[in-house]
Amino acid sequence: MMPRMKALVKTEAAPGLELKEVPMPEVGPNDVLIKIYKTAICGTDLHIWNWDAWAQQTIPVGMHVGHEFCGIIESVGSAVTEFSPGEIVSGEGHIVCGHCHNCRKGNFHLCPNTKGVGVNRPGCFAEYLSIPQSNVIRIKDLPMEIASILDPLGNATHTALSWDLVGEDVLITGAGLIGSMAAAVCKKAGAKSVTITDLSDYRLNLAKILGADRTVNVAKGDSIDAAKKDLGIEEGYGVCLEMSGAPACLKDIISHSSYGANISLLGIQPGGSGIDWNTFVWKGLKMKGIYGREMFGTWQKMSAMLHSGLDVSPIITHRLAYTDFKDGFEVMRTGNSGKVVLTWAD
Ligand SMILES: [Zn+2]
Repeated sequence: MMPRMKALVKTEAAPGLELKEVPMPEVGPNDVLIKIYKTAICGTDLHIWNWDAWAQQTIPVGMHVGHEFCGIIESVGSAVTEFSPGEIVSGEGHIVCGHCHNCRKGNFHLCPNTKGVGVNRPGCFAEYLSIPQSNVIRIKDLPMEIASILDPLGNATHTALSWDLVGEDVLITGAGLIGSMAAAVCKKAGAKSVTITDLSDYRLNLAKILGADRTVNVAKGDSIDAAKKDLGIEEGYGVCLEMSGAPACLKDIISHSSYGANISLLGIQPGGSGIDWNTFVWKGLKMKGIYGREMFGTWQKMSAMLHSGLDVSPIITHRLAYTDFKDGFEVMRTGNSGKVVLTWAD
């Protein structure tokens, strides 16, 4: 009989995930088989759980999901030379083609043929995961639970470090988990101040713990203008990170940015969302869309920052056994949580 393992599977075209047995992953000559110890639940996984329009178009029914993980190498394919069994690893969840124009230029994160672990191919919410050796990241001197959230920390790092932050006043709209981690990255990278906005006091409090200087709950009468006054910002924010996907936030960024400001967009705006292009042009603004993280420059930068004092551990608020995954998704759905980490092995 074929060996089997436990995994969180989208068993039917409906909300939810089910814990069930699936075949062990195949391990090709260039692949690394990883025994999973810790996984984290991503906003993407919530979309998959909720079975929204994007998930319905994207996720194959019958596949197990998940892409944030840390584990220990169980075995390696015959052509793998860089890794050995027993090493603690995480991994980049975007599997690129290696031969398109962008891959050939070294811009692997812009490969149009990317396949996503836990999105287009089987994921890490399972006892084992097989990925190409080129996607495996060796972990040294980091707790496994921190190593399991390097994927979203990489989003935060790439969004923030897309611009020179030293001495800048930074505005982050959206204190979701990536926005809050971006606050920590901006402070570590030399920002003069970080202002972060949201509608949730729980999330804003988390952002404060992670290093935001000023939080703004726009649902409770506070304003970015008040924050600018408190922080002595006269000419607007020099770097703005849009992490919410809300059109009102994008509007705030255009109006509160300084002349010549740099803007990253990580949040996905709804179709038809517009901005005041006149202001954009007159202020000489610059805007960049962010997807994933640079392979593998972002990994190296965030690893170096973690080893030199960047502390994102407060973002992990819930630790559960994988068998309690339903509780984990439930608390994520309430919005009153940071990262939820599931333990698969000790
Ligand atoms: Zn490619």
